[in-house]
Amino acid sequence: MPSLEENIKDFAKKAGAELVGVAGPDRMDGPASLDPGFIMRGAKSIVSIALPLDVNAIYEFFGKISPVPHNIDQAIKNQRAHRICTEIAGYISSLGYKAKVVPPNNTYRRSMDPFMVRPTFSHRFGGVVAGLGSFGLSGNLVTKEYGACIVLDTVVTNAKLKSDPVQPPRFVMDNRCKTCKLCDKSCTMGMFRDDDEEYLLINGELHARGKRDNLDFCNAPCFGLHALSRDKKWTNWGQHWIKEWMDEQPDPSKREEIRSTYMRVGGRTGDSTLRFDVIRHVARDLYPREEVEDFLPDYQHLPRDEEGRRQIMLKLYANMGFKGLERDPNLITCSQCMMVCGWDFDETKKRYDMLTGSGYVVPDPDWKMIHVDTYEEALALKEKYKRRVHPAEMIKDAQASGKLWFKDYFGYEPIGEFKDLIYRIKVKNACAKAGLKGKEALAPLLINPSYLSAMILPPKKKRKKNPVTSS
Ligand code: SF4
Ligand code: SF4
Repeated sequence: MPSLEENIKDFAKKAGAELVGVAGPDRMDGPASLDPGFIMRGAKSIVSIALPLDVNAIYEFFGKISPVPHNIDQAIKNQRAHRICTEIAGYISSLGYKAKVVPPNNTYRRSMDPFMVRPTFSHRFGGVVAGLGSFGLSGNLVTKEYGACIVLDTVVTNAKLKSDPVQPPRFVMDNRCKTCKLCDKSCTMGMFRDDDEEYLLINGELHARGKRDNLDFCNAPCFGLHALSRDKKWTNWGQHWIKEWMDEQPDPSKREEIRSTYMRVGGRTGDSTLRFDVIRHVARDLYPREEVEDFLPDYQHLPRDEEGRRQIMLKLYANMGFKGLERDPNLITCSQCMMVCGWDFDETKKRYDMLTGSGYVVPDPDWKMIHVDTYEEALALKEKYKRRVHPAEMIKDAQASGKLWFKDYFGYEPIGEFKDLIYRIKVKNACAKAGLKGKEALAPLLINPSYLSAMILPPKKKRKKNPVTSS
């Protein structure tokens, strides 16, 4: 007779999960974001699933042909993963246990710093302990079947499940990343290093990933605020370039300056909050199938013309109850570190060559993206078509942003902070014992007044002292 775990995995596969693994109470020792009890009191085990992202959509995204297929695929896959997990939770409940879905993204514990939030449950940690793969250089979960190019989701349950086998902690780092490192080269900001590692302590084992220099390096490109690569040879689909960062990568240790700079640029776009709000809803809320998952055509059935594709995006947003993105419906601008990582090195290199060899996309006066081959052409267009946003739009955006962050993200969750404090001590000791003193991956500091004030205050300027004059 099949076991409970086999029945659950069989059900998940039939519901559409491409990869599925389970982990029980023996596998939940790690950072607070690995504790299923944050999602449901009494939860002891998890079911982790993954769906691959559409490779053709990524080729169009990286080749600067169109961002729409990947945006659509992300919406479909996030909704599909959420729906499959809802069905799995229903199945587990029908067997007499309690079960709850963790939405695919955007459920965070409240934090004093709304730009440094931590997931209520990390799907990546869940995928690692359920045996789907192990961490790569980028910190993404890398699977044998699809690389890092997946959407993950998790169900937590009070059933005591028998864990699936896991990969050794350095499996991907030692077998693939050492000779690849293309995710680092694909990151416009160099958020993580390819020459230094940091370690997470999960179930008593140290798991390596590339050392993260400054998480704010990730926030800027993901909000479309800095699209130019470090070597100025290509862009992603973001509409903006941060002038101060064009010629030189900012010093990652200058945290206040970096935060202040991208907050200023973000504040001038006039639509940052709306864009974020749509992304978070599609990844967090499960919509009726006919409004999102079934409404959206898969890659083979998409119109070939860009205008037809844009109209599908706008209809999707209307179905979700959003308007105001007519000028620029493309929401996903970054995530190259995840998308570039295919099932083997040849596939990864192919994607990397597409991304870095396809030049630049910059907005025209109607905010539509134009493709050009050289930096000089791209710069000239950026200078010629300076984005003009009415101050009223900026004020409205700033108000909406403040309201959203305070309502859903700002705060303090003492249980999570206490758990993370204990975890910090454990991981420090484990690293020291392993001869890796100071190499622990630590969650960013939550209470740093000057860092927080950098979100609303302009960067400090060094004042020149006036010569003293005597009368
Ligand atoms: S892209 Fe290469 S270096 Fe980066 S995680 Fe994947 S295999 Fe590792
Ligand atoms: S999401 Fe973008 S900015 Fe962030 S680490 Fe990945 S490539 Fe870099």
